[in-house]
Amino acid sequence: MTVAATIGGMVNSRSLSDLLPPARARVQAFLDACSKAGIDILITSTYRDQEAQAALFAQGRTAPGKRVTNAKPGQSFHNWRVAIDVVPLRAGKPVWGTTGPDGVLWERIGKIGESVGLEWAGRWDTFREFAHFQYTGGLSLAQLAQGLQPGGAVA
Ligand SMILES: [Zn+2]
Repeated sequence: MTVAATIGGMVNSRSLSDLLPPARARVQAFLDACSKAGIDILITSTYRDQEAQAALFAQGRTAPGKRVTNAKPGQSFHNWRVAIDVVPLRAGKPVWGTTGPDGVLWERIGKIGESVGLEWAGRWDTFREFAHFQYTGGLSLAQLAQGLQPGGAVA
């Protein structure tokens, strides 16, 4: 099954197969654990190529729309196949709120993600992003850009 959207050569994928294996394994464990906990999850992004990142960065700057990222091409972990964006579903509908019961739901999936070895951006002090999870194996963007890849066994 191919779910990668390609627009004018750009790739903005929602497919787990576009993640590096160590990230993919943890994301699969995350989805399984959410399912076990009775929480439905929708993946909205996995891998984005540099062109797709450039288009996203332009949004709210040189292109119409709301600003959605501060990451230029190469500066997003999505560009290196180690990150996902998700949204929990309640009765089949995405939960975008982050306060009250919505916040509790996000906190639950954040903890589930952390329990399987993912880093949850809902904890970050700067650029906090509830939707974003990643597994970098401790590598920086610069190291990933150099071609290094996260290794290590699944937690
Ligand atoms: Zn993200």
